[in-house]
Amino acid sequence: MICAAGLKGKTMNFVADMHMHTIASTHAYSTLEEMIAAAARKGFFAAAITDHGAAMPGAPGTWYFQNMKVLPRVFNGVLLLRGQESNVLDYEGNLDLLPEDASVMEWVVASMHGPTMMPGKKHTWQDITEAWLQVAENPLVKVIGHCGSEEFAFDYEKVIPEFGRKGKLVELNEGTFRVRKKSLKNCAAIMRLCKRHEVRIIVDSDAHVSAHVGEFAQGEALLRELDFPEELVVNSSRERMLEYLREYTCVPEDPAFKEAVTGGVI
Ligand SMILES: [Zn+2]
Ligand SMILES: [Zn+2]
Repeated sequence: MICAAGLKGKTMNFVADMHMHTIASTHAYSTLEEMIAAAARKGFFAAAITDHGAAMPGAPGTWYFQNMKVLPRVFNGVLLLRGQESNVLDYEGNLDLLPEDASVMEWVVASMHGPTMMPGKKHTWQDITEAWLQVAENPLVKVIGHCGSEEFAFDYEKVIPEFGRKGKLVELNEGTFRVRKKSLKNCAAIMRLCKRHEVRIIVDSDAHVSAHVGEFAQGEALLRELDFPEELVVNSSRERMLEYLREYTCVPEDPAFKEAVTGGVI
């Protein structure tokens, strides 16, 4: 049972940034090491590297994602999750996450982008509703990325509770305040529904440069304005973040994770 203690007048203590891009995406400007160092400077205990899936122009190839297994579990004092921002490709909810990469990916953010979601086609509300309902069924997906876009509007009332039932985190994306301002009205409507239906959310930077890692000021202001229950914000508490990782990922089974937790490293 979630107690609806709202955020009015309070600040949140964020502990993780779970959506960011490195130079491997080729339209982002910092290295993985720089991104993780930025998360460490914020005092975060976890971060996910989520470069774009194969369909995005300039995206890294399969060898990049498969080889992420070489990355240390704890890097610069930060729990590192190997992830991808996968593109939703069609109304059946298919993603560009390759099967050979899927076994390595611990943190999949599923998003719709103009260049990769049936470019040139005008989508109906029903089409996008169907696509998200299908994505909700995909156990690999943890986060529903920046779903407030005007061009990909859908039946929020129907789909948002479904995301909650299937354990997906609805993302409040700080990058939207910079590059998708037209979506903000929809984002607020989505957050109101998350509050009403007690659907868990995550605030992410979607940083494409290290300076933006962990910068959540505008997202936090929106949540405060909505008097959003902090208990539903998964990355505003270490315990909540760990609880989600335990429930939906295999990361806590990694001996290096256990060692870092018992050793007090993270
Ligand atoms: Zn995106
Ligand atoms: Zn992104």
